[in-house]
Amino acid sequence: MIIVKTIKEMQHNMKEVKRTGKTIGFVPTMGYLHEGHLSLIERAKQESDFVAVSIFVNPLQFGPNEDFDRYPRNIERDKKLAEEAGADVLFCPDTKEMYPDKPVVTVSVNRRTDALCGKSRIGHFDGVATVLTKLFHIVLPDKAFFGLKDAQQVAVVQGLVDDFNFPIEIVGCETKREADGLAKSSRNVYLTEEERKQAHHLYQSLGKAQGWLSDCDSGETEQKMIKYLEEHTVGTVEYCKVLSYPELLPPEKDDEKLIIALSVRFSKARLIDNVIIDNVLVKQGSGEETCSVH
Ligand code: AMP
Repeated sequence: MIIVKTIKEMQHNMKEVKRTGKTIGFVPTMGYLHEGHLSLIERAKQESDFVAVSIFVNPLQFGPNEDFDRYPRNIERDKKLAEEAGADVLFCPDTKEMYPDKPVVTVSVNRRTDALCGKSRIGHFDGVATVLTKLFHIVLPDKAFFGLKDAQQVAVVQGLVDDFNFPIEIVGCETKREADGLAKSSRNVYLTEEERKQAHHLYQSLGKAQGWLSDCDSGETEQKMIKYLEEHTVGTVEYCKVLSYPELLPPEKDDEKLIIALSVRFSKARLIDNVIIDNVLVKQGSGEETCSVH
């Protein structure tokens, strides 16, 4: 695996790879790699001839009170893990390389961002779309692999690629979980022992919500999720939502897919999780459903 730190060298290398007719799979990350990231690299390896991984903690996608400065970093460990998982090149530019100056142009996301994380993380998805626009032009991938743990990000990136006509296929990959169901995340290291013990209830609540949705409407299901999480964790529930996917609008009976998503704030980590399911709301509006919160 080669390690590249400059845009010029990376673009040159990738053009050379393209010239040989190889397909390029790309996995953008912020590093501190775990099995979730590695599963994306492995999937990229299966579906492409050449795999590029990037590690860049993008300041543009962090709000002023977020964890940019203390985001976990361990580049030496990451190099080893990325190589073992099958990366051919690791692109790890520093901030000055990516943003030598205040950008003249940034990307602004108009839809799919006023719910879930986008609602409170103002400007976050603009930052994501801006850095990916740069990275797509640097890496020149045929396919880019993203985790559905960040399902809103996948919805936004699909919009970016569609609207700006990037010739790139976006592949959404399933969430890798710990044995107890907790979604793997670089931020899990910030959980206290007690919080870690409780954190499996996030995934539990998503399973329960799927059951509740067969009897209750989406609003009642959200309320039951909040109650469950408040009873079983010390975290503060930021949101529990049932929405259409990928539009992230209040669900209607003819939506094909729904997302059940949650965010819980613990003392030093804000954790998110979701499941995407076939729409089960076809019976809604019959006026029959009564659903007690217990
Ligand atoms: P990050 O480094 O957090 O920006 O994540 C880089 C990529 O890894 C994103 O596409 C994430 O959605 C994906 N990812 C993060 N956690 C997981 C997980 N537990 N399972 C699968 N993919 C994940």
